[in-house]
Amino acid sequence: MSSAVEALFTQALGLPAPWVVKKVELDTAKKRIDFQVASEAKRLDCPACAAKNQGIHDRVERSWRHLNFFEFEAWLHAEVPRVDCGTCGKTTTEEVPWARPGSGFTLLFEALAISLCRDLPVSQAAELLGVRDKRLWRQIEHYVTQARALDTMEDVTVVGVDETSVHRGHTYITVVHDLKAQRLLFATPGKDHSTLQAFKDDLVAHQGDPAKIQHVCMDMSGAFRKGVSQALPAADISYDRYHVVALANVAMDEVRREEMREQPAAVKAALGDTDRAVLKGVMWGMRKNPGSWTKTQVDAMHWRQHSTLKSARAWRLKQALRDVYAQAVHQNEAAVATELLRRWTSWAMRSRLGPFKRLALTLREHFDGVVRGMLDGRNNAYVEAMNGLLQQAKRAARGYRNVQTFIAIAYLRMSKLKHLPESPFTPAKPYGLGRTVHYCT
Ligand SMILES: [Zn+2]
Repeated sequence: MSSAVEALFTQALGLPAPWVVKKVELDTAKKRIDFQVASEAKRLDCPACAAKNQGIHDRVERSWRHLNFFEFEAWLHAEVPRVDCGTCGKTTTEEVPWARPGSGFTLLFEALAISLCRDLPVSQAAELLGVRDKRLWRQIEHYVTQARALDTMEDVTVVGVDETSVHRGHTYITVVHDLKAQRLLFATPGKDHSTLQAFKDDLVAHQGDPAKIQHVCMDMSGAFRKGVSQALPAADISYDRYHVVALANVAMDEVRREEMREQPAAVKAALGDTDRAVLKGVMWGMRKNPGSWTKTQVDAMHWRQHSTLKSARAWRLKQALRDVYAQAVHQNEAAVATELLRRWTSWAMRSRLGPFKRLALTLREHFDGVVRGMLDGRNNAYVEAMNGLLQQAKRAARGYRNVQTFIAIAYLRMSKLKHLPESPFTPAKPYGLGRTVHYCT
């Protein structure tokens, strides 16, 4: 190839001096393009101690996968100089400007990989890029660790604490969200009270102040309560709608299952000539809001609202609890919320439905926190939004190797980290290796 072509590619790749493209090899059968790149420097500064103008000991051959050129898989190869330093006496390999030390990918390739993993399941991104997903997971962990190290939590005042199961429910992790900024602050394996202490340490390490945390939204687990009282003593606790309504759903399911087991004939009679599939649809309808019912569910639910079945009463109680929340948020007065909750718990206590009696007792035990949660419309919405994002992250992470890699992808997608590499294809950004990409060693 002519030297004009090499000069063109030196420019297209954005190679900074003294690096130039020496040779370009295009293999149309293998759909591959190989760039042989070289440094024309005769003497270099020592990478270890920065002493000026040191001699070059030898050069070592290295390769990096780069962004594709159209459908051609692109590779960079270079003989990287090793500097012999007369000042510190060490022989040190020069750092190349297009890759971080030890990586087999150019920075731009990694930046593209990271930005793809923010939107696509990792396995799918790996397939698109033609790399093994294990290597992508390693990149994600590297860039997330680096971006979190530069992250600050100084403005955090309201947090949501939640637990979630990963690996088909075999492992639990605790997540802490900033409910104002709507981002994931912290995730750690486990769901006991020590996870809150771990959060506090992480908060402090990121310029946050535990004394500034005024409010914590969470479920009613004793472990979190203990953890909050120890690690965040200044915070008011509120129990959010999401977790309270989830408890009501659990209670309703319990009533329904028990009734099906003990009085299958009564259920069948009430439903008429109903097959299993319709029955199943009805059961699911009970968990949803009337607004999202299908036509069949509307028809089938009609009887349920007026029936004397236990499961019908359970459903009405659950719906009433939803209404209690809607009214409390609408009126936004502590006295009103207190009265609404008091009325609901007495109704549940008189319901002769064991699971709802137990729920009423639980709500009474945590009464103040539940009332605070009822008035907290905005935070309730955020808790649900963050939960939705967490489920998406789980789907994106399908096939992940361990809990730490899952936590890394959750941070990548949910933490709004400011120091991640940006996509090389953002408009108005030049396409070249010389572009500044965040990385550290
Ligand atoms: Zn040196």
